[in-house]
Amino acid sequence: VTGVAGRMTPKDHPNRPGEFAMIAQIFAPLSGSAPGAFGLSDDAASCTLPTGHDMVVTTDVLVEGVHFLRDDLAELIARKSLRVNLSDLAAKGADTVGYLLTLSLPDWVDTGWLEGFANGLRVDQDEFGIALLGGDTTSTPGPLTIGITALGSVRRGGMLRRAGAEVGDRVFVTGTIGDAGGGLEILQGSEDSLSEADRDFLVSRYLLPQPRLGFGTLLKGLATASLDVSDGLIADLGHISDVSGVRIVVEASNIPLSPALAALWGNGTGTAARAASAGDDYEIAFTAPESLLQTLNAASQESGVVFTEIGRVEEGSGVSLLDPDGNAVAVDKPGFTHF
Ligand code: ADP
Ligand code: MG
Repeated sequence: VTGVAGRMTPKDHPNRPGEFAMIAQIFAPLSGSAPGAFGLSDDAASCTLPTGHDMVVTTDVLVEGVHFLRDDLAELIARKSLRVNLSDLAAKGADTVGYLLTLSLPDWVDTGWLEGFANGLRVDQDEFGIALLGGDTTSTPGPLTIGITALGSVRRGGMLRRAGAEVGDRVFVTGTIGDAGGGLEILQGSEDSLSEADRDFLVSRYLLPQPRLGFGTLLKGLATASLDVSDGLIADLGHISDVSGVRIVVEASNIPLSPALAALWGNGTGTAARAASAGDDYEIAFTAPESLLQTLNAASQESGVVFTEIGRVEEGSGVSLLDPDGNAVAVDKPGFTHF
């Protein structure tokens, strides 16, 4: 789509290739392993799903000044942009198919930045087995904006849903919760006496989420409901509770906390509540009947992803966080919202 007719002349950008050279030099190499991408030389890409499969589609946009800062490493911005989308595919039990990339580039983005960005995508494409299928590139007078749409596949009707949690099910979550919140706090310059290892761990949990694809695909047919935890554990469990029409009860003392987060925030119910309302975890929260615990443990072994039982599904509505005495813990702001 061209700019405002006649009023916008394309500028030669002194510090980066023109639109078509950029696509050919920087992005086309990332499409190499997808035959239907035609080396980004066509209007659109085509992809063939295995017979009897559904396409799973998800998108996330990251905006300079909202999700990352201009001075953050381009490699890490790229990898986080891709990984937050892969985390959604993981929570839906999907296998990766490909992704689309839309970029709105302000003038400060130069060739070096673009190369770093493409390198980051390359590293994660190789790690997660996914290729670039296409996208769009425009200039903008505003902030750098990165949109990624990820495509996955599941056997027909098999996508894991937020709906489906049943009374009596147990509630589980992968990994540890709150690390990214701690990492963000460190990046924002809070004073602390952490070891360098703990600090690096928490910061990397913020900068580089770990999509649980291997575990997610094994959850199909086991989890009754599943979602990716991105805005805060309590808030996100609220989505399962809403669409499944159940009450979710979480034991604060069972919320998995990393040793590094405990070193930063301390142990105890207060920390658990804070961790459960911090965002950017990119873990999978799911419900399943207790009878499947052995099978779930096998899935954990096979994928190398740990999970923890944190609560149960009851009749009713909403999410309750309980302290060790069984009293409800107040959570003022259960999760992140943009507006
Ligand atoms: P059109 O004008 O037909 O929309 P474009 O000139 O925008 O086509 O894009 C040409 C090709 O380059 C298409 O295959 C498109 O998918 C691809 N492309 C454009 N920008 C990007 C990008 N940022 N990342 C990946 N592919 C891109
Ligand atoms: Mg286009």
